[in-house]
Amino acid sequence: MTLINNIKLPEVINIGAVPYKVSYPYIFEANITKDIGLHCPYISEIRISAVGENGIPICKQTVYETLLHEIIHAADYIYCGGILEEDLVGKLGFSLFQLISENNFTHGNNRLKNIKVGAFNFTIKNDCIFTNNDIVTYWDSMVDTISIAGSVDGYTISPEFMSMMIFTTVARIMCDLYKIDLPKLNEEMDEKEVLYKILFNGLYNTLTVNNLFNFFYKGNYNERYV
Ligand SMILES: [Zn+2]
Repeated sequence: MTLINNIKLPEVINIGAVPYKVSYPYIFEANITKDIGLHCPYISEIRISAVGENGIPICKQTVYETLLHEIIHAADYIYCGGILEEDLVGKLGFSLFQLISENNFTHGNNRLKNIKVGAFNFTIKNDCIFTNNDIVTYWDSMVDTISIAGSVDGYTISPEFMSMMIFTTVARIMCDLYKIDLPKLNEEMDEKEVLYKILFNGLYNTLTVNNLFNFFYKGNYNERYV
């Protein structure tokens, strides 16, 4: 771990089978770029600056959000082939940062009953029985309830699978609420839904194997984002 301004970032983040080096603090050349974060796919490196323009130190919240932003770039590159435009990664980064810093999605935590998505509070019901076995999640934003099957075909869903379903479902709802529209791979709507699944399952895997749900969750560290 590197320590500067009380900010510690992981030195390596495994994304799929690729170990990414996290370079922090990275010194960007001010006359070349105003970036404070960069994803370098060909050398498997994420670069984060500790200072913004004029050399002013960047607050923890922005450093953390920047790290998540670059992780999304990397997950897009590894799992989806790098198809997301910068403004989309920006929107995803800001909204996912709120989601995972304010809700404890830690792997295996299937006891979440309420989830904050922006200004909305959703109630999770994860013991539902659907008559159609193809449906395992359902949400109704008019009543702010997310329904998830507790079992499929008589098999009880494992806590780990449940926690992944909760995260990916909530992330998908978040995209609806904030109009975060992933690109269409072709004219089939189903393809787009598959892309949401690939991206969010990939992000769930990344956040889990690197213990980053714990890292980003501010309930673990009262003063973390001060
Ligand atoms: Zn970016």
